Amino acid sequence: MTKECITKKIEKLTAELGEVVSPLHVTTDPYEIEAATGDLSILPKYHYKFKEEHIATHVVRPKDTEELAKVMKICKNYDQNVTVRAAGTSCYSSSTPTKGGVVIDVRRMNKIHEIDEEKKIVKCGAGISWIRLISSLRAKGLAPKCYPTSYKSSCLSGFVLTSGKAGIGTVKYGPMFDALIAIKLVKPDGSIVRITKTRGGEITLNDVVGSFGILGAVAEVEMKVTTLKPSMEFAGYGFNTMPEAMEFYNAAKNNPVDKPFFLSLSDHKFEELSHVTIPARDFFVYVVFYDELEKTGKAIANLTEKAKNSNGLAIDHWYLEEKWRDIAETELNLGRLCNNPIFQEYWIADERIPQFYETYAPIVKDDKYRNAFYMIAGANGKSRIKLFGLSDIENSLEFFGIKANFNLMAQKSYKMGDGIYTVGVVNTFYQLLFNMERVKYMRKLKNSVDPDDRINSYRITKTKMRLWRVKLLFFIGKLLYRWA
Ligand SMILES: Cc1cc2nc3c(=O)[nH]c(=O)nc-3n(C[C@H](O)[C@H](O)[C@H](O)COP(=O)(O)OP(=O)(O)OC[C@H]3O[C@@H](n4cnc5c(N)ncnc54)[C@H](O)[C@@H]3O)c2cc1C
Repeated sequence: MTKECITKKIEKLTAELGEVVSPLHVTTDPYEIEAATGDLSILPKYHYKFKEEHIATHVVRPKDTEELAKVMKICKNYDQNVTVRAAGTSCYSSSTPTKGGVVIDVRRMNKIHEIDEEKKIVKCGAGISWIRLISSLRAKGLAPKCYPTSYKSSCLSGFVLTSGKAGIGTVKYGPMFDALIAIKLVKPDGSIVRITKTRGGEITLNDVVGSFGILGAVAEVEMKVTTLKPSMEFAGYGFNTMPEAMEFYNAAKNNPVDKPFFLSLSDHKFEELSHVTIPARDFFVYVVFYDELEKTGKAIANLTEKAKNSNGLAIDHWYLEEKWRDIAETELNLGRLCNNPIFQEYWIADERIPQFYETYAPIVKDDKYRNAFYMIAGANGKSRIKLFGLSDIENSLEFFGIKANFNLMAQKSYKMGDGIYTVGVVNTFYQLLFNMERVKYMRKLKNSVDPDDRINSYRITKTKMRLWRVKLLFFIGKLLYRWA
């Protein structure tokens, strides 16, 4: 196609999109495209292999399901690739275009359609931000059962599509999947299907949750919520060793009566980098209870006993309150301390965390790079471990060294039977190396609903990276880093 033909096609597409969505919300402006292309990871440009090569031509912001369905139909007619995204906080290029085309930003689809106070059910647009949903529910004496700690910026559909297994409320009430009743999915051909746990045709609710949008755009969500609770109590203890901290973490997590609303374990370096003040001791376990006054009081008293058994040192209450207030910024704060923060998230069974940590600790023992360890409790006996490496752009050996270490931990986690938490684009090659059964299952489904592979491509089912190149790069990186 000549340049002239391409320009004409783009103009025609813009006009047609502008007929179904307000022209104010159909843009080809390069700044808006750039803003709707990256994600929250402050990665250098060269890391976005996809960013420059596959930059989108349009950003479209439909306001409701109907507009979204029409946009999807137009994109199909024009054979346009599509990236559906919400707030872009999930990182790993999850919401970055990989084949150009149209970016659909769902954040205008933020209406609350119905709140049933009696049945404790909410129906809303998938692009609603958590903060807005939380405040709308609060006005009715209700609250979501679970949400990510990024709730100040992220959206409902982002948590559904990335799987929503770890975060606030996931230990007490279960993962996002448990709260879901139904979703409305706009398929790649523009048709709309309502999927429940028992109905939906070839795509199940289980397939959509954690699919990173490869099966279509989630337009609406219907989910169970809970009542607001009158009491929130905090506990926090410092420990000298990881086994002592883990003993306490497990005791807090596995208590069948007093389930924590939020639970985390961090090393001293994480606390030092994420907060101005630092609790003493090498490890820190943080617990939040949210329930009736009598229940939270008892839960704290029980934990005090358990902390004594594990040689825990109580942390000042003001620090615990400060930590809760800053919970949405905690992980971001580390990124502000260098110009090239690198991190990887792992999804590890609680009983295998000591094994994971035993591999990790010797790697960072000499502190060749600034590093930190942070984990938050998730559902189904697992936790999301986040490893940080703070490097600077000038020091590329350090960058590759950290990457090689994270890769080692990823391999270890898959070999143990666990894996990576956020797959996105960047981590999809691990699926192809270690999770072929799921890849084959999702490929079949993807081929059936999106045979031209236009929607959210290069996530879960296929990768652009050549596996031998990635392996070689990590191997060389590790060697050079050791010698440096
Ligand atoms: C400080 C911080 C704290 C965090 N804490 C947590 C945490 O506690 N738990 C956790 O699980 N994660 C956490 N995350 C990661 C991230 O914030 C969450 O995964 C969040 O749910 C992503 O929401 P988002 O709106 O940013 O989605 P995006 O990043 O925009 O999208 C996520 C994925 O879903 C797809 N997608 C989004 N909406 C749709 C849709 N409507 N239809 C089809 N596909 C769609 C996108 O293409 C992408 O693949 C954290 C991140 C940060 C930076």
